[in-house]
Amino acid sequence: MERSARLFENAKRRIPGGVNSPVRAFGPVGGVPPFIASANGCRITDVDGRVYVDYVGSWGPMILGHAHPAVLAALRETIERGTSFGAPTEAEVDLAELICERVPSAEMVRLVSSGTEATMTALRIARGATGRDAIVKFEGCYHGHADSFLVAAGSGAATHGHPSSPGVPASLAALTLTAPFNDLGAVAEIFARSGKEIAAVIVEPVAGNMGCVPPQPGFLEGLRALTKEYGALLIFDEVMTGFRVHPRSAQGLYGIDPDLTTLGKIIGGGLPIGAVAGKRPLLEQLAPVGPIYQAGTLSGNPLSVAAGLATLRTLRDQEETIYGKLEELTRSLVTQVGAALRDRAVPHQVQRVGSMFAIYFTDALVHNFADAKRSDANLFKRFFHGMLAGGIYFAPSPYEAAFVSAAHDTAAITATINRLKRLDL
Ligand SMILES: *Cc1c(COP(=O)(O)O)cnc(C)c1O
Repeated sequence: MERSARLFENAKRRIPGGVNSPVRAFGPVGGVPPFIASANGCRITDVDGRVYVDYVGSWGPMILGHAHPAVLAALRETIERGTSFGAPTEAEVDLAELICERVPSAEMVRLVSSGTEATMTALRIARGATGRDAIVKFEGCYHGHADSFLVAAGSGAATHGHPSSPGVPASLAALTLTAPFNDLGAVAEIFARSGKEIAAVIVEPVAGNMGCVPPQPGFLEGLRALTKEYGALLIFDEVMTGFRVHPRSAQGLYGIDPDLTTLGKIIGGGLPIGAVAGKRPLLEQLAPVGPIYQAGTLSGNPLSVAAGLATLRTLRDQEETIYGKLEELTRSLVTQVGAALRDRAVPHQVQRVGSMFAIYFTDALVHNFADAKRSDANLFKRFFHGMLAGGIYFAPSPYEAAFVSAAHDTAAITATINRLKRLDL
C-alpha cells in the first residue's frame, strides 16, 4: 500500500478528501483506498501491484467485466473518428432504439451524461407535465445528488423532508416527502393528505443504495395503483437495476409499467452516461418539441454511446448465456457466504436480486433503511478490511450493493469463500 498511501496524501492536498466521489475515501471503514492502475475481467490491480477480485464493478456499470474486448474494440473504432461533435450521430439513434427494444416501458429516450442528470430531468418532466411540485421518495434510496433528492426522512412515519446536506434550500426540501421503503401504507397516507400536490413517486425498484433490498410483493404494484389514482407519475430509477437484475430491467422482472425510467451505469459500459426513458407524450414535453428545458454539451457523447451500445448488444446477443451465468454464479456465491457465516455463528443476512447482493451483519431480514442501519458496523469493518487484505475488493461501506460480472468465474468465487472462512471476525 506504499504508493497508494503516498498518492492519497498528495491527492488530499488538491482534491477534497483525495477523491472525486465521497465514498471512495474509505470514510465508513477507515484506512487508505488502493489507487487503481488497471483492471481486466473480474480483477483490478492497484498501483502497488496487488490484485483483487472486484465486487464493486465501478459501482455497477461493469456487468461484462473490465476491459471487455467488444467494448474496447468499439471504443478504439470510435475514437479514431473524433471524440465529440455537439451534433447528432447515428449511434445515438441505435442506442435509443436498443433501449426502447429492451426496456418495456420505454418509447423514447433522452441521453444525458450521468444518473444524477437523468433523475433531475425526470423530475422536471414530472413537475412540468403535472403542474405539481411535490415528490415522494423513499428513505435510504439514492437518486443522485440533485437538491430535491438529498432529503432524508425523520424517523417513523412519513414526514416533510429535511435537507440532508447544507446547501439544499429548506423550501425545496419541503417539497420532497419521504416514506420507508416497502411501506405502502405510509405512501397511501401521504397521498390521502397531499395527493393533489404530488407530481411523482420516484423509487429504486430494488433498493441498491442501502445494500440490496428487494421490493415486498405488492409494493411496486401498489405504487403504480396509487400514482394512477391521484394523477401522479411513477418514476423507476433504474440507474443501478437497469439491465442488471434482468435482461428487461427491474420493470421486466416485476411486470410493472412506470411512466418514466432513469438509466445510467450499465448503458454507458463504464463511460459517463445517463438517460431518461418513458412514454412518448412525456418525453415529447422536452425541448425542442415541448416547453420543458433540458440540454447538455456532451450528451450522447460518441465514446459513451459506443461503449454502451457494445455492452447492451452483447447482453442482448448472449442473453441466456450471460444472465444464466450471472444468476448461477451469484446464487452459488451468496449460498456459500451464508453457510460460511452461519458456521461461525456470525449474525448475517445475505440478500440478492440477480447479480446484485448485500451482506448485512444483523439477525433480521432487511426491508428498509431502518433495518439496514441495524447491521453491525464494526463487524462490517473487520469483514471489509480482512477481505481487502486477502485480495477481495468490496465497497467500503455497509450500505452499498455488491456486483458479480459475467467475467467472474468459480476460481474467483472460491478465492472469496476461502478468504471469508479465514477471516478474524
Ligand atoms: C448511481 C445512481 C444514481 C446516480 O448516478 P450518477 O451517474 O452517479 O450520477 C442515481 N440513482 C441510482 C439508483 C444510482 O444507483
